[in-house]
Formats: sequence, structure tokens, C-alpha cells
Amino acid sequence: MKYLIIGNSAAGINASDAVRTLDKKGDITIVSNEEFPAYGRPLISYFLSGKVKAENMNYRDEDFYSLRNIKLLLNTEAEKVDAVKKKVTFRGGGKVDYDKLLIACGSTPFVPEIKNLKEQKNVFTFLTYKDSIKLKEALSKDSKVIIAGAGLIGLKAAEGLYGQVEKITVIDLADRLMSSVLDKTAADIIEKHIKEKDIEVLHNIYIEEVEGKEKVKRVKFSNGDRPECDILIIAIGVRPNIKLAVSAGIKTERGIIVDEYMQTSQKDIYAAGDCVESLDMLSNENKVLALWPNATTQGETAGFNMTGKRHKAPASFAMNAISFFGLQLISAGIVSSGDANNLFSDTRGDKFRRLNIANDNLIGFVLINDNQRAGIYTALINDRTKLSSLEYDIKSKDIGLNIYPKEARKGKAWGKL
Ligand SMILES: Cc1cc2nc3c(=O)[nH]c(=O)nc-3n(C[C@H](O)[C@H](O)[C@H](O)COP(=O)(O)OP(=O)(O)OC[C@H]3O[C@@H](n4cnc5c(N)ncnc54)[C@H](O)[C@@H]3O)c2cc1C
Repeated sequence: MKYLIIGNSAAGINASDAVRTLDKKGDITIVSNEEFPAYGRPLISYFLSGKVKAENMNYRDEDFYSLRNIKLLLNTEAEKVDAVKKKVTFRGGGKVDYDKLLIACGSTPFVPEIKNLKEQKNVFTFLTYKDSIKLKEALSKDSKVIIAGAGLIGLKAAEGLYGQVEKITVIDLADRLMSSVLDKTAADIIEKHIKEKDIEVLHNIYIEEVEGKEKVKRVKFSNGDRPECDILIIAIGVRPNIKLAVSAGIKTERGIIVDEYMQTSQKDIYAAGDCVESLDMLSNENKVLALWPNATTQGETAGFNMTGKRHKAPASFAMNAISFFGLQLISAGIVSSGDANNLFSDTRGDKFRRLNIANDNLIGFVLINDNQRAGIYTALINDRTKLSSLEYDIKSKDIGLNIYPKEARKGKAWGKL
């Protein structure tokens, strides 16, 4: 059996591991258009800051591939999939045939049309290890950095640069930070914390134009301001890589459509990770859940199914656990939409908690600097526990494991408590 995996990151690596667990003899080839063995993508901001050294970036041990007899083709870009002849063509020539194919090729930064942006040498995105290396090489202590986009990636870039440059300005079109996951109250707590680090944050602004030849010297904001800029980072968002799937005639929407076995609409082709849309158990809609743990689980599921073992991906929902400048943020489920009457919030100093309760179920939460109960809240969402069945009110500040009735506790890992 010939297994071909396109993408050498969370989804691809876990798929290859799962395949090898069940099929000791099949040929496994992983193709990556990057130059490095698999690394921890979320670590690139820590590499930028210097907290994580190059030798600690690897996602798996150096002998991961050789121990499992996996052929790794780096600097190799898959260009086209022929689902009938079961062949993948590479950019610059070369073809590989497969019996089972996994597309695990993640996403690409979205760079909007901005006047005069093309051909500028000091414009960066922040998605890959290479991006982080290039940024590190370009910065100096006099750099004035503008980051377009105040989402996870933009803020992580800001954190990585902090203390190494003269000025950091983060701008966003929305009226708050991380607008896709946080409401204004929660976003304001994070913003206050970031501003205390002397990072400038500007809202309701976008870049109309950049000024400079070969290198951006100033950017022109939509409010008319023209601040100086030595490094411009575009972190407006990412788009799932669906081109390969489209070339194979696979059904796609925003991402590649898969079933619960991570099988696409084409026979013997699977997809996993940031490039797919999967079922969000809370909204019952297909969504791109672009998160590392999600990619690993989906990759593993795809790997098992590629060997012929039927294995369903567990139901999932969006969950983010991030720290910015030492401040902990956890958000899960549906947090920023729905009926306002369902929302319960409390703020204590720099701690914030928001619960979203609908039809006697917890369907989402946000915790800032208050992560002790995240595990319980997550379990309540996962198990769809009726809140009225609990021993006391979930809104109580001091909830602990004894919130579960005694009988229910027995069935849990913490049953002895
Ligand atoms: C700065 C940053 C911080 C993050 N922090 C967190 C966090 O704290 N928690 C969290 O859960 N998630 C975080 N994420 C998101 C997480 O990294 C992704 O969800 C995860 O990497 C997705 O894994 P994947 O395997 O699906 O895709 P990717 O990791 O994107 O890997 C896909 C690979 O496929 C390659 N590829 C693409 N097209 C081709 C092609 N045609 N041919 C060959 N190779 C190809 C790509 O170059 C890439 O190497 C962060 C991401 C970034 C950028």
C-alpha cells in the first residue's frame, strides 16, 4: 500500500504515526513545501522572542521519520492531484502515485490588495518558521513595526517582538482585539494589559497605501495618518489551502469538506487540519477549527481510516488557550454570539469570566487569568451536561469538581474525589 501525505505538520505527522501503528509495511511518503522537519508552529513567536532556541523547535525527535520508515520530501510542493490516475504532480516536475492520499496542507496568510504593497522587501507574514527567521533577521532596536491585524497571529507577533524594537503598533479594522473570539469587555482587559507594555493599539483603521520604493517607509492609514514604518506585518487572517483539493475535483466550501472519517468527496483521498471544514458540535455547522489539537486529532483519525480501520473523529468545538505577555486567555465554544440574556460575566481585578448558557447547557466560556475551572467547563460542554442536574449554580465563583452529583463523579476520571 502506498500512502502519500501532503503537509508535514500537526495533521500530517499524526496521520503518518497512525498509519504506521496499524500498517508496519506500507510505503509512507510525506511531502512538504517547507525546508524544515516538522516544528511546533505555535512556537514561532517564542523563537522570535528568543525564548525558544532553534534546537527546541522540532515537533518530534529527529529520528521520527527513520524509525517509522517514512520518506520525507522537503522543499517539494504538490501542485495537482489526479484522482482518477491516483497521481500527484510536483511543481517543477516529478510525480508520485498513491493508493491513499491525505491532504493536510494547512492555510495561507491572506494579504489584501494595498496600494504599492507588492515588491516591498520589509513586508512580512507570520505563519511559518521561515517567516519568523526572516523577521528576526530584519529587526533592529530602532525598528518601528506596524502589525495589521489584532487577532491571535498579530498579537503573537507583537509578543515575539516585544523588547527588541523601538515601537510596535497593532491596528485592526474591528473595534476590539481578537474580535472573532472576544467581546468588548474581555478584549478591553487584554488591550489594557498590552498597552501597559507600551504597545500602541489602534482600532477601526486599515492601511490604504504604503509609501516607499522597495522598502516601506510610511503607511497611510484610513484615518489619514502616515506613521513611519520599518517593518510591516500583515496578520489579517488565513485562508484554508483548498487549491489541491479543487484540482482533484473534491467538494470544497471555505475549506475542504470531509465526513467524520476525514474522507473527502473523492475515493481514497482524505483531508485533515486547518485546510478542512468539520462539524462544530455546538452550532451543528461545518467550520474551519484552525487549532493545533484539532489538527492532531483529525490527522490521527485520517491515518487510521487510510489503513482501512474505521475510526470516527470525536465531536469538536473551537477552543483557544493562549498567553499574551503572561496573561492567560482561554475561550471555548460559542462566546461572542447568541442571545445576550444567555451571557453571564463577572470581573474581579484582572480576572474575567464569561459563560454562555443556553437551554440549560453551557455552550461557551471565556476566562482571563482565571483558568482553574477551564477543565470542568470544557467537560460540561463536551458531555452536554444539563446544568440543572448539578449540585449547585455554575455561576457560583467557587465551583469545583463537587459540582457534579456524587453518582456522576464516580464515572469520571476524578471519581475518587
Ligand atoms: C503564531 C501562531 C501561533 C499559534 N498558536 C496556537 C495556539 O496557541 N494554540 C493552537 O491550538 N493553535 C495555534 N496556532 C494554530 C496551529 O499552529 C494550527 O492550527 C496548526 O499548525 C494546523 O496544523 P496543520 O497540520 O493542519 O497545518 P499546518 O501547520 O499549517 O501545516 C501545513 C503544512 O503543509 C505545507 N503545505 C501547504 N501546501 C503544500 C503543498 N501544496 N505541497 C506541500 N506542502 C504544502 C505547509 O507549508 C505546512 O508546512 C498558531 C498558529 C500560529 C501561526
